Amino acid sequence: MSSHNSYKRQTKRFISSKKLRVSVIGLGFVGLSIALVNSKKGFTTIGVDVNKEKIRNLKKGIPDFFEPGIENYLDYCLKSNLIKFTTNLEETLFNTDLTFVCVGTPPKNDGTIDLKYIKNAICDIHKILKSKKKYHLLIIKSTVFPQTTKDVVLPVFSDLLKKGLVDVVMNPEFLREGYAIKDILEPHLIVIGGNSKHGGQILEKYYRNFYGKLPEIIHCDPTTAELIKYANNAFLATKISFINSIANICQNLPGVDVNVISKAIGKDRRIGPLFLNAGPGFGGSCLPKDLSALINFSKRYDNTDMLFSAVEKVNKTQPIKVLNLIKKINLLKPSKTISVLGLAFKKDTDDIRAATSIEIVKKLIKNKLIVKVHDPKAMDNFKKIFGNKIIYCQTVDECIKNSDCCLILTEWDSYKKLSPQKFKKLMKKPNIIDARRILDPKKFSKLNLQAIGLGN
Ligand code: NAD
Repeated sequence: MSSHNSYKRQTKRFISSKKLRVSVIGLGFVGLSIALVNSKKGFTTIGVDVNKEKIRNLKKGIPDFFEPGIENYLDYCLKSNLIKFTTNLEETLFNTDLTFVCVGTPPKNDGTIDLKYIKNAICDIHKILKSKKKYHLLIIKSTVFPQTTKDVVLPVFSDLLKKGLVDVVMNPEFLREGYAIKDILEPHLIVIGGNSKHGGQILEKYYRNFYGKLPEIIHCDPTTAELIKYANNAFLATKISFINSIANICQNLPGVDVNVISKAIGKDRRIGPLFLNAGPGFGGSCLPKDLSALINFSKRYDNTDMLFSAVEKVNKTQPIKVLNLIKKINLLKPSKTISVLGLAFKKDTDDIRAATSIEIVKKLIKNKLIVKVHDPKAMDNFKKIFGNKIIYCQTVDECIKNSDCCLILTEWDSYKKLSPQKFKKLMKKPNIIDARRILDPKKFSKLNLQAIGLGN
């Protein structure tokens, strides 16, 4: 009874306190973005990571990935003394009230996700909170499959939960790389999957302070929150595989362009215009990983994975469709030179995790082509995989010079502005494969332009 009363008192104090002190565990794309936006908003913020080199660099103002605006935010927060970076978890938990857990949940070879980082983090946090003996709110931001909070996280904290010293909330993150800051500042929705009403209330209070005017919030249980995140990403993946399937039909029909079809169906409000860009298939750290985790999870229940498995199959076949375009113009041959423009899984990021460029470049190397590549941000990451097997070019001109074929794999804005004259002047023969549909076929009609979803 007494511990319950003290819990109620602490919760009340939490809810009435003006500004909660925030810590963020795991400073990758998600964690660092959340930590910086928080601190700029005036919340005392501590960021923790197990990677010592990352922490050393962050203290110097150097993030280990590219994300628009992040460097400026980091610089501002460090200069204004708003944020602290450390590897010391104990000090962090003792000096903050709520903690966002943002560690990675990377894919395993069998398509499931690896929970080892989350399990390690949770065990370390539990040991420390046992001696803190003050209420702490734990918010799981990492994407985990349904029932992970219930079956993996909550049991670790059972003693502290009983004493009312901890609440755990599953609060999935929907930010997009390339728009991380904007998406944190203007989320379309906040999902609060709390183990208890109190935890959810405290997190809502925190968000009220953070946003002023609260965005839309859905309160639910942790498992529903976990499945909302997977359903969200599976739907986006489905839209992409859908339009890619239509694109593959268009390619066989002279005069038909998938972009016209996307535009037309996107006008139907029930469909909407977003995520209807045909291309080489989706990549990145989220969609492929979350889709295969959902497929794996659904296999527990009768025939529930059928649609998701088809979406994945379409996506895995899409890079082959790109290679077929090179084959069609007779250039998938040893000693031909191919220039690849764009390596990142999408524009405005240096992230190449599960990027289709990796699969495609591997196949080009296997077919003994000479591969020259360019990307405004992702070349260093690509070098870690391909080393000296390919040629890295600092400029587009250098990349396309004297090549037999140019393949566009990322929709960088700078590539959209390239003129037909440039390709004509620099390439051996102006054969272009636009796998992102960023060039205007009319403007390029005098060149040999092949494109995903363009029947010509
Ligand atoms: P990431 O791999 O870029 O970063 C994870 C960080 O956690 C690393 O810096 C790592 O060193 C650190 N870490 C691991 N164990 C730790 C521990 N015990 N203590 C402290 N730090 C630890 O991951 P990310 O891309 O930021 O994604 C994090 C989570 O958010 C994943 O579950 C991901 O699925 C999800 N998510 C990612 C995105 C995205 O766009 N990247 C969007 C929404 C959700």
